[in-house]
Amino acid sequence: MTAQPPRISFVSLGCPKALVDSERIITRLRAEGYELAREHAGSDVVIVNTCGFLDSAQAESLAAIGDALASNGRVIVTGCMGAEPEKITDRFPKVLAVTGPQQYESVMEAVHRAVPPRHDPFVDLVPPQGVKLTPRHYAYLKISEGCNNRCSFCIIPKLRGDLVSRPISDVLREAERLVAAGVKELLVISQDTSAYGVDLKYAESDWKGRRLPSRFVALARALGEFGVWVRLHYVYPYPHVDEVIPLMAEGKVLPYLDIPFQHASPDVLRRMKRPAAQEKTLERIARWREICPSLTIRSTFIVGFPGETDEDFEQLLDWLDAAALDRVGCFKYEPVEGAAANSLGDPVPDAIKEQRWHRLMQRQQAVSARRMKRKVGTRQEVIIDEIGPSVARGRSKANAPDIDGSVYVASRRPLKIGEIATVRIERAEAYDLHGTVVGF
Ligand code: SF4
Repeated sequence: MTAQPPRISFVSLGCPKALVDSERIITRLRAEGYELAREHAGSDVVIVNTCGFLDSAQAESLAAIGDALASNGRVIVTGCMGAEPEKITDRFPKVLAVTGPQQYESVMEAVHRAVPPRHDPFVDLVPPQGVKLTPRHYAYLKISEGCNNRCSFCIIPKLRGDLVSRPISDVLREAERLVAAGVKELLVISQDTSAYGVDLKYAESDWKGRRLPSRFVALARALGEFGVWVRLHYVYPYPHVDEVIPLMAEGKVLPYLDIPFQHASPDVLRRMKRPAAQEKTLERIARWREICPSLTIRSTFIVGFPGETDEDFEQLLDWLDAAALDRVGCFKYEPVEGAAANSLGDPVPDAIKEQRWHRLMQRQQAVSARRMKRKVGTRQEVIIDEIGPSVARGRSKANAPDIDGSVYVASRRPLKIGEIATVRIERAEAYDLHGTVVGF
């Protein structure tokens, strides 16, 4: 009889990019015969993949490490916070190892030291697409690591280094495997998706007998050929982004753009050192919508950035009215330790940040509600994520998983997870839509 395989409990915190790191580590673990456990207690070791983007995320990561130590005692820490190991080891000297983001090899070494693998080539088979933490019908596709920008509020380039893109054939091979394994929606992620390939000088590589450049638009076009939903996240509005809009209009890529604008006042954007901040965004949004009327735009904003005046903030509100974005997230500025913006001075008092946050959310809600109402009476394709007792929950092309709302779907026939159904939209709420499957 074989001995019990070693068991690992895994905590994945942070953004979709960290989730992709977690998936890669788990794939390696499974390939080496480790088993995943649901509980810390009774596992051989706990891995905590941390997020260090905001102070609140760091606090959540530290709390998760504390929990794991209390309930298990054998803990390996990885992820963004691992880039500054003393923050962890000062507080938790008992952790077994601390490794940084994307240091898959170091995580595996630490695991091997803590609990050696049990080799059994017959049972240690990993499905060809790896192990995904996301449901089987959608998957995140990470096209690069790091970032060449230096936004003054952000420490990601410090933690993750400069942009390193994967060659286009490498990305397409992974996409092909995922699609072959049943994935119906690919979510393209990176810190700066439209900068893809800059570091490679857009080097060409072979893909199915063609030479393709490692460029954002070429990648979007090639992904569109797989015939699954392709959703683009973290796209900065560099001029060449215009070229992807016709692909959306043709149905090759989902008509959805996630563009973190962060602000609209030129002064604030300059102090934030944002990429592509001078690109006449309102005119471009209008042009994009002319070419692709069904385009959904999601964005995030920061209020209370150092030196943000009442005029800057009013300018942002007016811009939001004019841009009529579909989905907006808003953060109150937090001075992340190590960020260049901390030395800008002129901090905005917390009470004013709070006030501005409420005003922005309120103002945008009216815009979003108007955009949502336009969907009532239309037919939308909806990908089913979850089957409930009376209705199913899914997403239209306008909803990304985890960050946008849902479409609640009634149906006279049984639905399947991952199926794409045509739904007549009957009702709109602030974030969600309700409708019924058309036909049988
Ligand atoms: S684009 Fe700016 S905010 Fe985004 S990761 Fe790069 S430096 Fe940070």
